[in-house]
Amino acid sequence: MTQVVQVCVLHTNRDYFDYTSTVEPSLGARVWVPFRTTTRLGIVVGVQASTHCNKPLKSITTVIDDEPMIPKELLSLCHWISQYYQSPLSEILPLALPKKYRQGAACQLPQIESYQLTVSAGSAHQKIGVRATRQHALIDFLSNRLDPVPKKTILQAGFNTSLLNALHIAQVLKRCESIDIPLIQEAPIEAPLPVNKEQGIAIQSIVEHLSSYRCFLLQGVTGSGKTEVYLQVIVHVLALGRQVLILVPEIGLTPQLLARFTARFHVPIAVFHSNLNDTQRQAAWQLARDNHVKLVIGTRSALFTPMPALGLIVIDEEHDASFKQMDGVRYHARDAALMRAHATNIPIILGSATPSLESINNYLRQKYTLLRLTQKALNSPPLYFEIIDIRTQVLTHGITARTLAVIKTHLAQDNQVLVFINRRGFAPVMLCHHCGWMADCRACDSHLTLHKDSHQVVCHHCGLRQSVPKQCPNCQHRELVPVGIGTQRVFNYLASECPKITMVRIDRDEVSQKYALETHLARINSGEAQLMVGTQLLAKGHHFPRLTLVVVLDADNGFYNQDFRALEQLGQLLTQVAGRAGRAEFPGQVLIQTHLPHHPLLNQLIQEGYEAFAQTLLLSRREANLPPYYFLAVIRAQATQVERVLTFLHAIKEAMVTHPVTVLGPAPAPLARKAHQHRLQLLVKASSRITLAAALKHMRTHAALATIGTGVRWNIDVDPMDLS
Ligand code: ADP
Ligand code: ZN
Ligand code: ZN
Repeated sequence: MTQVVQVCVLHTNRDYFDYTSTVEPSLGARVWVPFRTTTRLGIVVGVQASTHCNKPLKSITTVIDDEPMIPKELLSLCHWISQYYQSPLSEILPLALPKKYRQGAACQLPQIESYQLTVSAGSAHQKIGVRATRQHALIDFLSNRLDPVPKKTILQAGFNTSLLNALHIAQVLKRCESIDIPLIQEAPIEAPLPVNKEQGIAIQSIVEHLSSYRCFLLQGVTGSGKTEVYLQVIVHVLALGRQVLILVPEIGLTPQLLARFTARFHVPIAVFHSNLNDTQRQAAWQLARDNHVKLVIGTRSALFTPMPALGLIVIDEEHDASFKQMDGVRYHARDAALMRAHATNIPIILGSATPSLESINNYLRQKYTLLRLTQKALNSPPLYFEIIDIRTQVLTHGITARTLAVIKTHLAQDNQVLVFINRRGFAPVMLCHHCGWMADCRACDSHLTLHKDSHQVVCHHCGLRQSVPKQCPNCQHRELVPVGIGTQRVFNYLASECPKITMVRIDRDEVSQKYALETHLARINSGEAQLMVGTQLLAKGHHFPRLTLVVVLDADNGFYNQDFRALEQLGQLLTQVAGRAGRAEFPGQVLIQTHLPHHPLLNQLIQEGYEAFAQTLLLSRREANLPPYYFLAVIRAQATQVERVLTFLHAIKEAMVTHPVTVLGPAPAPLARKAHQHRLQLLVKASSRITLAAALKHMRTHAALATIGTGVRWNIDVDPMDLS
């Protein structure tokens, strides 16, 4: 009988198209379908008896997979993301498939050459002459393993091909094809650390609830031993034969973190990071799907890894903004992971020193179980904060005399110092001292940043680069001065003040090349580099063995920023960077330069800590009808002609009038013009997720029509991280 099959054709901006088929393909299987004038890959997302479409349907060309390629639970996760984040399924399913599979590759692991003994080790030894010691060693090496051993592993262990050939001729081993399972460390497993009382309670509470959904919020300052808690819980999950998914922020995936995991478990681990090529990505995905790897560690997109025996999800640094995808499908990996854990009925751990206000609110509402680690695992003395009032001070390249003196004292004691400034480049503005002209971007409403290293002025929004102007185009004066500070400027100044000190700079310009970040971090980690100047790239997830001083130069940005999350992020950042300071034998010190030394929130943060600070912020969010008490979506639109954007946004605003939501705007985006595009936005506020979703869904049906022929590009951002 002919059936109607709903096929999601990737990147068509639609959920699915109807096709006919005489066989019933599995949900989640890939198919080839005729699409316009070509053949495209699609995923089966539904099978029905009839269609709403009144045109005659085309039929599926080929069914690629007998089994679902995307398992049922992930398919439902994609459906949820589609509905919650208001994105068509055809944009979400590609996230759940490695590129090779999106191109139609067969669903299987790459096969590799392997070897296995054909007889017992004892009889193998007898067949070989006594003096062939290397051959005997190879027999021992192979006899310790049950499965075929990849040739690559054998060679890595110091044996060569002629030894293999000799044993093959002696008929004690056979050659076969096997799959490439990631190597398990040869070194003995490291023993778990003896835990302190709080760690013990945390581990026990989680381990008691491994058989059903529950969200644990593990709050502990940096170095309080959260990772140790994950490790000891994971042991129990692995013992049950289950898999574990660990998500970390984009730059949290450090070699140190991986080393800690591989040293602790003798199970195959798959790591998803941005340096994987397509084949490696396919292999890692397939290994997880076939339950060969037990542990998957990765950034945001690893959320979509199929894991049939998934038993636990861990989200490290859950407050980190990199879990939210900022383009394409704007999903939040933490929130989607919560859905996945719920649907799979397994526990999930959210770890952070500085939980998001959303998560704090959720434990206050008893949706999450809070587990606290209040002490540093390695007893370090308490931190010493100092606010430096810069209102009346002379700043040299952004630094006060007092700050410089403290930096030098710490360096003289052979300690490490981190100077934090969240702006790359040399100076954010080039100004004519004579007439006040500023170097601006042609394409954006923004100033050009001076990059002295490359002798250029650069737009940080559209990437425009020009050579540094030699004179003012307005009044022809030659006195152009850099105003404000960036990482390069601070670095150069400190390098001239501390000529004998080894320094590194960490910002996006400096670490843009592959592995550059790793190399820089290794120099910090080994203690070779003593003075670090960096942006927030440096703020988290790294280990500084001798760090005793953190200097924050531009805290005020957080206070002046209009965005509703700016203060939360500033508090998180200050707490995170401060948490890096302090060694067992030296107290840590944090200097904060500010024009607002009496700011109540800054003082509360320093005196009472992040939690008290977060409670105050929550109160103000409640008063202002902002998340987590209210639900937001931003609708962003842009085009070369501003009128078209306005017309479009007014039309879709109109489409939502009958819904119980507040729609603010159209208003210019904080960066109102970028790359010659005029950008405007609507802010939609609702008292519940359901009303928000209903209004947006209704609006989307109108929006598609309203953009036809206008050149307006637009997107919806549900639960935005910022309003820019
Ligand atoms: P977090 O993940 O909270 O930053 P970690 O788990 O990385 O903390 O722990 C910080 C340091 O303390 C690590 O060097 C770790 O080996 C050590 N550590 C953690 N727990 C203990 C413990 N119970 N006893 C001794 N050292 C510990
Ligand atoms: Zn001028
Ligand atoms: Zn620009």
